Amino acid sequence: MPADDRNGREHVSDTQYSKPPAEQPLEEVCVAKGMRMTDQRRVIARVLQSAIDHPDVEELHRRANAIDNRISISTVYRTVKLFEDAGIIERHDFRDGRSRYETVNDEHHDHLIDVRSGEVIEFRSADIERLQELIARELGFQLVGHRLELYAVPLGEDKRHR
Ligand SMILES: [Zn+2]
Repeated sequence: MPADDRNGREHVSDTQYSKPPAEQPLEEVCVAKGMRMTDQRRVIARVLQSAIDHPDVEELHRRANAIDNRISISTVYRTVKLFEDAGIIERHDFRDGRSRYETVNDEHHDHLIDVRSGEVIEFRSADIERLQELIARELGFQLVGHRLELYAVPLGEDKRHR
């Protein structure tokens, strides 16, 4: 394998940055879990599934409302809570005081948060995955999951703003 990938970008270990395509439609997952799917819940499920960012409830409401303007923010809150409790979506707290959501049928990944812009970048590093398992093992545990968030500023920004 060459050191550079097809785009000519330097290949840093085996870290991946792209978001894999979502699998089973969220609506079907909900139905399979025995959830009663109203039209409004279906809209919210579709909005969640099509999100490639990590929207909060207000943003989800804005998007759902653009499809069906009868959907209230409290319906979005309740539905998101329902999906979260059922393990269909994951809630993140990226330290900006807002809960953000994403579907969990994506492949596992970690997040880097640009603390200046709030942008969230997804990545996966086989090196980090291995290291975490190793650390758990050395402490006498078998790793069953983890959550890793990197808080960062773009290179150069730290000096400029100090
Ligand atoms: Zn994510």
